[in-house]
Amino acid sequence: MSDCLFCRIAKREIPADVVLEREDVLAFRDVNPQAPTHVLVIPKEHVPSLAALDERHDRMLASLVGAVNEVARQDGVADGYRTVTNVGPAAGQSVEHLHLHVLGGRSFGWPPG
Ligand code: 5GP
Ligand code: ZN
Repeated sequence: MSDCLFCRIAKREIPADVVLEREDVLAFRDVNPQAPTHVLVIPKEHVPSLAALDERHDRMLASLVGAVNEVARQDGVADGYRTVTNVGPAAGQSVEHLHLHVLGGRSFGWPPG
């Protein structure tokens, strides 16, 4: 997906503040942070959203979730953080490449808006 923003970040064609890289996963700071820690964890492979995953993605998914935890540890928020993924426009997904938000460093309300 040559025109996908997060594919282009994964290929380092567009700069980002990368905080963690694994073979199949990249994590970088959100350009419009909603908390002191706001990192996006993405697969390097183009996957439109969580809804597009199947068993072929199991290994990548384990890496993705592991990276979330690692990012939280690196940023010192492992004892209290939130991870969110929006699926589809009704849930607020604005970039059609799977990403897990990692939010921390402040308290969060529930339920989310
Ligand atoms: P969504 O709304 O799809 O759940 O999340 C997309 C996120 O990507 C938003 O929080 C938005 O601020 C972030 N974002 C959009 N464009 C860029 C960009 O070019 N660079 C970075 N680092 N984040 C971006
Ligand atoms: Zn993509």
